[in-house]
Amino acid sequence: MLATDIAAAVNAKELDPQEVLQRSLERIERFNGEINAFLRLNPRAAEEAARLKERLAAGEELPLAGVPVAVKDNISTAGLQTTCASRILREFVPPYDATVVQKLRRAGAVIIGKTNLDEFAMGSSTEHSAFGPTRNPWDYERAPGGSSGGSAAAVSAGMVPLALGSDTGGSVRQPAAFTGTLGLKPTYGRVSRYGLVAFASSLDQIGTFALSTADLALFTSQIVGHDDRDATSIKEDAPVFRPDPRRGRRMTVGVIKETLQEGNTPGVLRAVEAFREKLRQEGVSFVEVSLPSLQYALAAYYLVATAEASSNLARYDGAHYGSRVTAEDVVSLMKRTREKGFGAEVKRRILMGTFSLSSGYYDAYYGRALRVRRIIADEFASAFQKADLLLSPTTPTPAFALGEKLDDPMEMYLSDVDTVAVNLAGLPALSLPAGFEEGLPLGVQLIAPALAEERLFDVSALFELASEGAFLQNAPLE
Ligand code: GLN
Repeated sequence: MLATDIAAAVNAKELDPQEVLQRSLERIERFNGEINAFLRLNPRAAEEAARLKERLAAGEELPLAGVPVAVKDNISTAGLQTTCASRILREFVPPYDATVVQKLRRAGAVIIGKTNLDEFAMGSSTEHSAFGPTRNPWDYERAPGGSSGGSAAAVSAGMVPLALGSDTGGSVRQPAAFTGTLGLKPTYGRVSRYGLVAFASSLDQIGTFALSTADLALFTSQIVGHDDRDATSIKEDAPVFRPDPRRGRRMTVGVIKETLQEGNTPGVLRAVEAFREKLRQEGVSFVEVSLPSLQYALAAYYLVATAEASSNLARYDGAHYGSRVTAEDVVSLMKRTREKGFGAEVKRRILMGTFSLSSGYYDAYYGRALRVRRIIADEFASAFQKADLLLSPTTPTPAFALGEKLDDPMEMYLSDVDTVAVNLAGLPALSLPAGFEEGLPLGVQLIAPALAEERLFDVSALFELASEGAFLQNAPLE
């Protein structure tokens, strides 16, 4: 059941929130053993669902009344373990809720559990989890993408209608594309990062997964807005997104030439073309745009992201959070805790980041990456002079096989080639389901100027209307 339908029925007192929760739990019970989307469930969910009835009876307005929501396990939940899928945080229980979680609870959502991810959100397949990989509901031998693979799989498998993820370089959009779901990365600063465990602070943004445009808009509307506890939070009143396909028809979409060159599978190219054709018939105009510096985006991203990660992860020293390996003196305690606590990919990132920030290399690597970042942002700005939105594939291929890229980090990083530039520029972008290749879902990416999420929803709603709700017929499991 869609979130909009659940909330409407619960608000009308036609549906009991406890019953909704029960259905969701049954679905998890049935599929999670194999899919491993959830790392743990919220033991207080039933109690929270029961309390909703009192809140409704007291006349509270609850836009997400009774909707079960899954939360990526790098977003803090008070009293409920938040591990980032890392051994180092295996026992960590946050003393507070992230702002987004607080807002969802306030809106009547039921936090049902925490989902799997690549350790500290570093990865593109959810295989770098200390708790085993997540499987793609469309094909259990394939990765669901990452790092928010658990959230994407939970929505795709019909375990929950909505899930939160985080997107530093594509971690919401890429798994959305691989699982046939919608995934939105909002404008940097539009959603509070308070309570999101930091990976690369200048790129991190919490994002949303859903199965329809209306659900995605309703969900996202509940988590946006200024927050004093996040210094990068934009000062604005929280917008309410109301997708309107009529506005979508009047848009001009710029197709990013560089993203349609070599490296894409034929199915991906066909999906972009079919998406364009469908929207063209609805009245949308298309132009070609060029962002010549996109070819440097991946390199710049992996320099900036690792530099920030090396600094953010310094806090896991065995003294402040989570697990600790005891030793005879403080230095060996820290060393051993970090040696045992972090997985290989996280260590690789810390090493790369420390190297690129070290004196003597700083200008050649980190400094240059920052200059590329600036140029890419400028190129986006000039593209938006010609178009309201930009279009590209979300990923160059459909979901790859589990294990396929594990031994080759460069290959793994390449699956982010179409998504990372958006984070470097701080823009909002949406991946929406747009067809299949050999039975696997594909996504296309729409990118908007900062704070113009509304346009993404409008065009998504138009595409959904024109394809007669095909998003919903996407369910991989009965
Ligand atoms: N896959 C990218 C990385 O490994 C992006 C991760 C993310 O967005 N959290 O850095």
